[in-house]
Amino acid sequence: MDKITIIVPCYNEEAGIDFFYPEVQKYVEKIPDCEFKYLFVNDGSRDGTLDKLRKIAKKYPNVSYLSLSRNFGKESAMMAGLDYADGDAVIIMDADLQHPASKIAEMVELWRQGYDDVCGKRIDRAGETWLKRTCTNIFYAIMKKFSTSYEMQRNVGDFRLLDKRCVEALRLMRENQRFTKGLFTWVGYKKIEIPFEVQERVAGTTTWNYIALFNLAIKGMTSFTTAPLHIMTVVGMTVSFGAMAYMIFVIAMALIYGDPVAGYPTLMTVILFLGGMQLLALGIIGEYLSQIFHETKHRPIYLVDEMNGERIIYQRL
Ligand code: UDP
Ligand code: MG
Repeated sequence: MDKITIIVPCYNEEAGIDFFYPEVQKYVEKIPDCEFKYLFVNDGSRDGTLDKLRKIAKKYPNVSYLSLSRNFGKESAMMAGLDYADGDAVIIMDADLQHPASKIAEMVELWRQGYDDVCGKRIDRAGETWLKRTCTNIFYAIMKKFSTSYEMQRNVGDFRLLDKRCVEALRLMRENQRFTKGLFTWVGYKKIEIPFEVQERVAGTTTWNYIALFNLAIKGMTSFTTAPLHIMTVVGMTVSFGAMAYMIFVIAMALIYGDPVAGYPTLMTVILFLGGMQLLALGIIGEYLSQIFHETKHRPIYLVDEMNGERIIYQRL
């Protein structure tokens, strides 16, 4: 009998959370030789999500929940789920039923064939706005070009089945600034992608917006590649050489033709350009510095407030 835990991070999911268990259970019941457990992680919701989770956990014996002390973000909530989940494998799913439970049977099947990480690959980016698709494309192009050690998977999110050993590997990575998508890839092991269509949210609204996505992209880049720093070095050197050549030209012109005070446009252009470059370089250094700042404190990734009705005092990790 295989034991699988379904991890569900929830943030302000009051409106739709009641539909989750019955809907998923409908599919997983039919999978032979498999025992499913549910672990809901309440990520500091401000609505009645926690109350609903308490009720669901009381009603169904295979449901448990964790409640974090505040909103730590989905990445941290997932980590909490991975830390507390047991069983031979876990499945990570969104609480809003955007990840089709109908795919679980296929995932389990592939896992049984020996795959360690069965990732859901979304096939319906077409439904998104042009701007979002373009931004996503740019991000992947940059990541692909500059992360040397491994390739980031495209259109693959958090909907996946992970073998126990992937979970153990992820538990070793205690970094604070979590870019889980990259972490999954970093772990390696035998991966396979299965296509799925993202469903409509059952209820509630998404917490993502462009700013959040931009921040996530920056985090992804700065925590998985130092290429931007290297690029700035190259750009800096190029600009310096250019400046040197131009300096020689200017001096030569002054020596040959005298020194009429002119060239205001050139001056402005050069000052603004160099100023901009310097600020950009500083900004990039700053991004890495902020990563270091957050990581060196070694704070826990999340704090558990309550677990299955029990008030948590000592954190497990
Ligand atoms: N979520 C979370 N913490 C957060 C934000 C979101 O645990 O701070 C959960 C949310 O409850 C949902 C999943 O992460 O189960 C995905 O969030 P959402 O549906 O808002 O994102 P989208 O599906 O639009 O990418
Ligand atoms: Mg969603």
